[in-house]
Amino acid sequence: RRTAALASSVGPGRTSDDHPVALLANIGGVEDAVAAGAQDLEGVGLFRTEFVFLSATSAPTVEEQTSIYRAVFEPFGGRKVVVRTLDAGADKPLSFADLGPEENPALGRRGLRLSALHPDLLDTQLAAVAAAAQVTRADVQVMAPMVATAEEAAWFARRVREHGLPKAGVMIEVPAAALRSRQVLADVDFASLGTNDLAQYTMAADRMQGDLADLLDPWQPAVLDIIAAACEGGQDTGKPIGVCGEAGGDPLLALVLVGLGVASLSMAPSKVPVVRYALGRHTLAQCRHLAALARQARTAADARAAVRHAADQDV
Ligand code: PEP
Ligand code: MG
Repeated sequence: RRTAALASSVGPGRTSDDHPVALLANIGGVEDAVAAGAQDLEGVGLFRTEFVFLSATSAPTVEEQTSIYRAVFEPFGGRKVVVRTLDAGADKPLSFADLGPEENPALGRRGLRLSALHPDLLDTQLAAVAAAAQVTRADVQVMAPMVATAEEAAWFARRVREHGLPKAGVMIEVPAAALRSRQVLADVDFASLGTNDLAQYTMAADRMQGDLADLLDPWQPAVLDIIAAACEGGQDTGKPIGVCGEAGGDPLLALVLVGLGVASLSMAPSKVPVVRYALGRHTLAQCRHLAALARQARTAADARAAVRHAADQDV
């Protein structure tokens, strides 16, 4: 038992019966990359590129971007780094990509919708990612934010391949994309659930409004149902679906997500050890049981309490 506990405190993420679940970092720039790269984790599941350019007043050039991406990839050696293309708009305004005021910015032209209107911004970024990827050993992959439809996913994948980048993915953070994940996944290689926005859009509760935290709770059974629906599409297509929203860093919820079929968890790097430990103390079958319990609950609080109780019994 001691050996098992020790084994689950280092190395790649896995359940106690050796089902692999990659443990990855969410990062926002070079400083984060250097810190996370030195940590025992399997790479980056979400590099929020818009964070690098929050104070830029003009669009960064290919050369500027290439040198930043190179510095971000380097600390990860041959590990995976998933770069998210600019998620500008709503809670992450970028002055060089500002289209003027919108009535409802969270429902407006943000994320990939902005890239559709300004393909030049996307192409510059993809060219820089491709150039930086060529001079590092990292397994560089790119994904698009705020995808709602299969056409958008296919459009993005085509552009990514035109730049010679081998792997394209999409974030699933809009309920429409979750419900149609089979079709959304058809033209891409992977998807990653953005549980922060997925909760916002499922519950119709503004993520910037602190007094709505109860509705934004990723334990809300409706959010879990939507995640389960997305994972079914992943299973049907054989393409991996990960999680890169804050939910992945909650060790109890991580067990539920794995039980729902999630293949990797990306989180604040400080959360990796506790999530690794929780996974190492449960089998995949136990995770599936916890997921079923959570979905049977009537409220978020009941779901959390039922899973906490059952998870304690398992170990
Ligand atoms: C999310 O929406 O869950 C996510 C990971 O992206 P962001 O928080 O940057 O919107
Ligand atoms: Mg998001």
